[in-house]
Amino acid sequence: MPAYNESGNLKAMVGELDSLTNSGLFVIENIGQTINLNDYEWEYVFVNDGSKDNTLQVLRSLRQDNARVNIVNLSRNFGKENALLAGMDYASGDAVIIMDADLQHPVTAIPEMIYWWTQGYDDVYGRRSDRGRESWLRKRLSLMFYSMLQSSTRIEILQNVGDFRLLDRRAIDAIRSLRETQRYTKGLYCWVGYNKKEFLFKQGDRLEGKSSFNFRGLLNLAIEGITCFTTAPLRLSAIMGFIASFIALIYIIIVLIKTIFWGEPVQGYPTLICTILFFSGIQLIALGITGEYIGRIFNETKRRPPYIVESFNETKL
Ligand code: UDP
Ligand code: MG
Repeated sequence: MPAYNESGNLKAMVGELDSLTNSGLFVIENIGQTINLNDYEWEYVFVNDGSKDNTLQVLRSLRQDNARVNIVNLSRNFGKENALLAGMDYASGDAVIIMDADLQHPVTAIPEMIYWWTQGYDDVYGRRSDRGRESWLRKRLSLMFYSMLQSSTRIEILQNVGDFRLLDRRAIDAIRSLRETQRYTKGLYCWVGYNKKEFLFKQGDRLEGKSSFNFRGLLNLAIEGITCFTTAPLRLSAIMGFIASFIALIYIIIVLIKTIFWGEPVQGYPTLICTILFFSGIQLIALGITGEYIGRIFNETKRRPPYIVESFNETKL
């Protein structure tokens, strides 16, 4: 669980996890199966992603009376995607469940995830049957983004699927081997493949505090998603350039013929200014798109680690 400014939620989170994992026989109603939760050993790995509130203190006090609580404390805020990677690196289980620390992901779905895992699935992912409280615009834009991304890549990008999922050890290790610093984890789950199984869950509302992903954050995530997974925008700008040059060529021929046969009194300021503006626009867009990719190459070639751990449990690193 990545945690950024979650001090108000952690106690309830650990409470819910404890009451679930200690509940023994659990009947999974929607698939009519029963599993025994006592058959499993549990650890909770919280990654404190440079919180500005007292998340770390709350975690430490929780750890004092609950040895299952593990704390990976990052040296600053590295962002959710990198915090997730840190969590995967420090989790030791045969399977790892990734979930938000704000109780938006219902712990009661965990038994079903485990059931599918025992049936041989490596990646059991939750699809939101209901997106929780969210503005109409945010929902629309996010669906638009998914369909745009999907149309530009061969890898299947799943819609309405967040970070609530169970991964088998081998899928976790596969994702851990992808050390890119600019991560789009949702795409990485799809990239590594393996047997996938879907389950539905109802996304709740955040218990305390507010979401760290405002409009700008989501836009950045969207750009990250596209640039991490496809070079289609580069191709698009090349195609745009070709189309524009083709139209320009036709126009040049028309102008030439007109001038040769009918002469050309100086005029044509509107056409001139329109063409200049149009083509400089296209050039700037193409440059911007290329720049996005070059920036990413620049960042990746530095080969910086995706995160730095300040301490793990009581040990300073
Ligand atoms: N989070 C994080 N680092 C950040 C921002 C968020 O670790 O820089 C964590 C946060 O604590 C939560 C999860 O990522 O567990 C999802 O964040 P949030 O609830 O703010 O986003 P939303 O659910 O609105 O998408
Ligand atoms: Mg949330």
